[in-house]
Amino acid sequence: MMFTVVDNPSTAPSSAFVPPRPVEIGNALALLPNRQFHVSNVNAAGEAPLVNASSGGIFLVGSRAPKTIHQIRQNNPGLPLILEPTAMRKHWATEDEPFLLSGGLFQLTLEAELDWQRLDSDLAITPTGQIRAGDSATLKAALHEANKLDRTDTMLALPLASGWMNNDQLVKQVIAVINRSRHPVLLTFTSSTNPVGSARRAKAYRRIFREANVPVVAYRTDLAGFDALAHGALASAIGSYPSLRRLTPAGGRGFAMDPEVKSPHMLITDMLRFVRSTHMRRVWFANAASIQCFCVICRGAEIARLHGEPDDRRTGHNHNVVAIDNLFSSYLHLDEAGRRDLWARQTAGAIDTHPQLAAHIKQPVPVDNVLKVWASVS
Ligand SMILES: [Zn+2]
Repeated sequence: MMFTVVDNPSTAPSSAFVPPRPVEIGNALALLPNRQFHVSNVNAAGEAPLVNASSGGIFLVGSRAPKTIHQIRQNNPGLPLILEPTAMRKHWATEDEPFLLSGGLFQLTLEAELDWQRLDSDLAITPTGQIRAGDSATLKAALHEANKLDRTDTMLALPLASGWMNNDQLVKQVIAVINRSRHPVLLTFTSSTNPVGSARRAKAYRRIFREANVPVVAYRTDLAGFDALAHGALASAIGSYPSLRRLTPAGGRGFAMDPEVKSPHMLITDMLRFVRSTHMRRVWFANAASIQCFCVICRGAEIARLHGEPDDRRTGHNHNVVAIDNLFSSYLHLDEAGRRDLWARQTAGAIDTHPQLAAHIKQPVPVDNVLKVWASVS
């Protein structure tokens, strides 16, 4: 048992031995499956040593990533490292310019751009800009150009505005484009808050993975990545803090926050829920003992102990990396039916933890609508 107070036996980490595995450099379909990926930015150097090289990997994001990747590689040999292209964060794609290519006057070709990425990165990612909801012409342009590439090291990045999940027609278009891709797809959604935060969106998200028959990575996501895995995703990549679990719309910012809100959101694995430390201190554990966590980072300390200082944030984010890997450990080498069955048991168990916590803190703990969707069979 990793936490006091709440217990969801299906989320207990597996202690099965993971045999050493080389990095399948340059081969997307070999490298991506049976690994849990993390999305790391400022805390990458601290998170990388926590990730099991044989069952994990890291997508490095942010403006400093191209400079830090060499050091991280040197300190963590054998750990897959993939660089996110800047275009996904900074560029709005258009039909004429779905990709942002380097070079100004002497602009690189898409092929050369990907070769250039590969100098540092174990796989290449098309430098697709963000695609506005319903902009089918741009979505198809990105697909069309990427399909001209004949290479095994490349993922087609589709950073889509979250409005693409708002209605059936748009969802169908996304699925149709994915299913025409020659390359595995790196799929993520943009929003200044959680792009998959409603029941409707959670259903649409699941449907994409269920109906896609080209391999898709659930990228920059939260525990929706496990719902995706249970419905056929090739892999998921989850960030240790909220702005790494989505893409902020290009040119915009996430919601400004009060400094106390900078206290880390902590994954309580048994509940399948990230909860802000501040909320736990002020609401859940104002008059009750805090849940304790027995992971390698917390070692029995209170889960609600952390504040907004950089050291506390790092500690909290490291806890999340370890907790995500613990959750993934039972998925390793399960087939899709096995993953779906495991997720069904984990989500049912997570719902059961709510009355356990409610009894401990003597106040109601509502079950999130998204968890109800995850727990539903479709
Ligand atoms: Zn912990």
